[in-house]
Amino acid sequence: MRFRAILDTMPVYKPGKRVTAPDGRSFKLSSNESPFPPPPSVLEAIRRAATEINRYPDASCHRLTEAIAERYGVPYDHVALGPGSVTVAQQLLEAVGEPGVEVVYAWRSFEAYPLLADMAGVTSVRVPLRDEAHDLEAMAEAITDRTRLVFVCNPNNPTGTASRTAELAAFLDRVPEHVIVALDEAYREYVRDEDVPDGLTLYRERPNVVVLRTFSKAYGLAGLRVGYLIGQREAAEAVRKVMIPFAVSHVAQAAAVAALEAEQELLARVEEIVKERTRVRDALLGQGWQVPPTEANFVWLRLGDRTTEFAEHCARYGVAVRPFPGEGARVSIGDAEENDAFLTAAAEFPR
Ligand code: PMP
Repeated sequence: MRFRAILDTMPVYKPGKRVTAPDGRSFKLSSNESPFPPPPSVLEAIRRAATEINRYPDASCHRLTEAIAERYGVPYDHVALGPGSVTVAQQLLEAVGEPGVEVVYAWRSFEAYPLLADMAGVTSVRVPLRDEAHDLEAMAEAITDRTRLVFVCNPNNPTGTASRTAELAAFLDRVPEHVIVALDEAYREYVRDEDVPDGLTLYRERPNVVVLRTFSKAYGLAGLRVGYLIGQREAAEAVRKVMIPFAVSHVAQAAAVAALEAEQELLARVEEIVKERTRVRDALLGQGWQVPPTEANFVWLRLGDRTTEFAEHCARYGVAVRPFPGEGARVSIGDAEENDAFLTAAAEFPR
């Protein structure tokens, strides 16, 4: 058997795991999920849709595309869907990718970027973070004639930091028009800093900006896999073309439409998470940790070579965090009980 050589060096995606303490307690704070189960109206939509799973789904995702277009006041043909925004990012890379093409992104950022770039056969250009945040000046400098795509993860996973209006504008001014800037806004709903621009505003101002969003986080549908891109027709069309036929299931489409209808209820839950985020960060600062300000549903602890030890320590309390060995740990904000369990573990970590 022969496989592509890139597979020998390609990183493997490591999903967040669940751990269980000796006393049976288990708190999963390793995947930035919503801690809340779906509202009854969404569950009912899923139940109804499930009765038709003997049929293929609507390959064009018509109703959901329409619902998203209406919700954000964008043209229907500016929306492209995929099974999770990670796959939409992959579709985007597939759409621009051929040998020699470069994609620029910050590092550390979303773990899937290097993997997807390798899969698409394009060259990754990683620009180190500065003070845990995107160094947009250095990213602008990293753009070459071979660059077709730049990912800006805003807020950044795993550090939670967000790029602000003026620095983003200065950056976008420097990006040639034929280079696509994909603002990955998986955590947009958790942003409270008013100086962090809504990507959709930038998409309206700049034809080369596309926005990636997901139903996995604030909308609580991580298990169903629905994400989307909003961008100019040309970009949305390209992303739609490379989607695997029927990739977004009928159940997922129906659930996402119902989630948009239940938006007020879901956004009220986001508000709870934002309040918990403040409580968790303040408590960590009180314990003497350095925690960068976060606009997402997680916090970042720079632990360096003690990262693995910290994750193992938390696991003994039943708390699963996401370690990036040698760098730090990302900890999702859960419900109050989960967060308390984590804060106890953090307080008792020998320092
Ligand atoms: N972008 C970022 C920055 C993420 O953190 C994630 C999920 N971890 C995704 C995209 C992908 O989310 P999904 O595929 O579930 O939509």
